Amino acid sequence: MDKKYVYLFNEGNADMRELLGGKGANLAEMSSLGMPVPNGFTITTEACNKYYEDGEQISDEIRAQIEEYLGMLEKETGKKFGDRENPLLVSVRSGARASMPGMMDTILNLGINDVVAATIAEKTGNERFAYDSYRRFIQMFADVVKGLSKKRFEEIIDEVKAEKGKKDDLELDAEDMKELVARFKEFYRAELGEDFPTDPRTQMMEAIEAVFRSWNNERAIYYRRQNDIPSDWGTAVNVQMMVFGNMGEDCGTGVAFTRNPATGENKLYGEFLMNAQGEDVVAGVRTPQKIDQLKEVSPTAYEQFVDICSRLENHYKNMQDMEFTIENGKLFMLQTRNGKRTAQAALKVACDMVDEGLINTDEAIMMVEPQQLDALLHPMFDTAELKAATPITTALPASPGAAAGTVVFSAEEAIEEAAKGRQVILVRLETSPEDIQGMAAAQGILTVRGGMTSHAAVVARGMGACCVSGAGDITIDEEAGTFTVGGKTYGREDWISLDGSTGNVYGEKISTVPAEITGDFERFMEWADARRRLKIRTNADTPRDAAQAVEFGAEGIGLVRTEHMFFDGDKIKAIREMIVAKNDEQMEAALAKLEPLQQEDFEGIYEAMEGRPVTIRYLDPPLHEFVPHTPEEIAELAAEMNMDAEELQAVVDSLHEVNPMMGHRGSRLDVSNPGIARMQTEAVIRAAININRKHPDWNVVPEIMLPLIGDLKELKYVKKMVTDTADKILAEEGVDMDYHVGTMIEVPRAALKAGELAEEAEFFSFGTNDLTQLTFGFSRDDAGKFLPEYYSAKIYENDPFARLDQTGVGELVAIAAERGRKTRPDIKLGICGEHGGDPASIEFVDGLGLNYVSCSPYRVPIARLAAAQATIKNEKK
Ligand code: PEP
Ligand code: MG
Repeated sequence: MDKKYVYLFNEGNADMRELLGGKGANLAEMSSLGMPVPNGFTITTEACNKYYEDGEQISDEIRAQIEEYLGMLEKETGKKFGDRENPLLVSVRSGARASMPGMMDTILNLGINDVVAATIAEKTGNERFAYDSYRRFIQMFADVVKGLSKKRFEEIIDEVKAEKGKKDDLELDAEDMKELVARFKEFYRAELGEDFPTDPRTQMMEAIEAVFRSWNNERAIYYRRQNDIPSDWGTAVNVQMMVFGNMGEDCGTGVAFTRNPATGENKLYGEFLMNAQGEDVVAGVRTPQKIDQLKEVSPTAYEQFVDICSRLENHYKNMQDMEFTIENGKLFMLQTRNGKRTAQAALKVACDMVDEGLINTDEAIMMVEPQQLDALLHPMFDTAELKAATPITTALPASPGAAAGTVVFSAEEAIEEAAKGRQVILVRLETSPEDIQGMAAAQGILTVRGGMTSHAAVVARGMGACCVSGAGDITIDEEAGTFTVGGKTYGREDWISLDGSTGNVYGEKISTVPAEITGDFERFMEWADARRRLKIRTNADTPRDAAQAVEFGAEGIGLVRTEHMFFDGDKIKAIREMIVAKNDEQMEAALAKLEPLQQEDFEGIYEAMEGRPVTIRYLDPPLHEFVPHTPEEIAELAAEMNMDAEELQAVVDSLHEVNPMMGHRGSRLDVSNPGIARMQTEAVIRAAININRKHPDWNVVPEIMLPLIGDLKELKYVKKMVTDTADKILAEEGVDMDYHVGTMIEVPRAALKAGELAEEAEFFSFGTNDLTQLTFGFSRDDAGKFLPEYYSAKIYENDPFARLDQTGVGELVAIAAERGRKTRPDIKLGICGEHGGDPASIEFVDGLGLNYVSCSPYRVPIARLAAAQATIKNEKK
């Protein structure tokens, strides 16, 4: 039998979402529940995929099936396309598996032409209605199928109103509507060089094709990437008989939620307009009435609607978002779907539904999007102000939150201005470790360069600061103290606002409101914690971040990046002395200065973690990151260090590497400068001894992690430096304390040789940032420049630095986990790259049976929920 590409509503059900899309499956389900749904049919997502396979053509086979189903629809309804007695009009709407803003949504009144309009006018005795429907159809068709500007149509309406001396759309009479139809057609012909299609079948096929096309428009591709929707899902198309809310005063249309989508309150929430068609409710031209008022206006329809709402909610066990139309007093359901809601509402609905006995706690856990929790942890924009604002550019949503401030261009300036009590946004080409304090002082950070794992992004997420990165449209003129975007220039006195959740940048001040954490949050997270298998640790480098993470539920630290501690105060001086040391003596002297400072840092972190496990990673970045690079800065530093500027310049030059990310960094630094590993070991061991003396019940067991290891001999070599130093101190101090030495798995060779590495390593932590960089062979700092072209070309669907590439990098993780466990069955396995906070990646590593994920503090609640969902999903697999 030929493949079935089209289904009547009464042939499907809610379980056929993949094939019929969300809208189609739910229309079918409502039909089968006996609810009043206008007849129609759904063209499947497979037809959409076939359309692309066939080179963006609707095949003859699919066309024939559409024709056949149109015939059935005509039979069911007793109406016919183009008929002079009883013409059929339909809506054509897209409907993917997941609801997807950005795709073509709706065309109403399809099937009208001059003859049909005249027939409708005659049959309904309502000429205005007939031609109003006609002009609306032309407008929608021209906009969504042909891409003509909506604005021009609005202008034409304004012109007609002006000529006739009318102010309001409602004052336009039948003659005016006819005039609009004529002018719209004229504009259509002038723009497109063809007449508006009069044959309803042509109109329908063109509309169907436009829905298929819209699956791959830029907005849809962007939305899919942000929301993890694969491009091969495709969209379905629903063709449904029109019912009219604009045929008179006993007609109307509306939208409603079974509960309040902003607060979660269990009360019907929505609005409607009498004598109106769908888009009027959202267009804001007329003010809709509250759904409660329908009780007075159309009591029978209201009662029936309330009944349907509760049946739908009980049926789907989720809050529903519905569209309805009333035609001559009779109610019709046009759509139902799980309603989008704020994070706060999501938690309340989940908790309430458990209390109402509608769902169990597992179902509640699955009901909340992990990413949504983020909104509960950061300040948010005032909703009304945000709605009224237009972005000046959009870049990567690197770290969520909302921030507004005046512009500054350097970290120093940020610190100075913040000290005066001003709110500032730090705008930089890119950030570097020296900017950390300035980043902390700013409300938000905007960078021109850099991707989701750029310095700015990683550090901002760690701090919970809002950050938008990679805003390539911006040009900065540091000298003038301005930046320019879209032809407009912004200086130090100007306010800008950043939305770190969407990547939008606004050229104005938008007020922020603090995030709210309600009691439901805690209760809900307890359910999640009870269900998850993975432990959740955090990446933190300061006691403040560590304490914040614990507050958010972190069970330990999976990664302390020790280099982040080296930038403040005396430490940067001491490390620079170490770098310029000319002999062992000078080197030892510099390290001796560093050790107590580093030890103090570690003690601070141990204190903050109160006995929870802490993995300390040894120095990782290439040393050039610790020295200045411009001649002026070098001269200044040389003077400070009592050195000759030329001599310092020579040291800086000697650190230059063509490819520093693949250069002299990680444990390679320890192989050439053993003093560093020894100093760090001394600091860790002494810190732990002190803390254990102070808090005997904490029983701190240091976890020392070596970065960028690729070879067993290399691991042994560096590990020996660690154990020799540690054992010596422990013996000297007469302390019996356990400590563990493990390695990061960051280079592909380490993953492949994990079986050997596990002979020496007591734990592995997957550094999936570097592992991704080295597996793909593209730079984590620069890939952001060309990845967008990969998305457009549909080579990649998302940023592999944000979402683990499960088939490539993921395979290396799987191999390493398996080989490591073979050698050392109880080896502890974790992941500490940025992927540790990404729900899809968490599900993947849960499937591999890793022990923990480690992520930035503000992602900890997200990871806790994602891990619980992963357990539930993986149990079902
Ligand atoms: C990694 O490479 O994934 C990692 C956690 O280390 P870093 O980001 O500090 O290189
Ligand atoms: Mg790394």
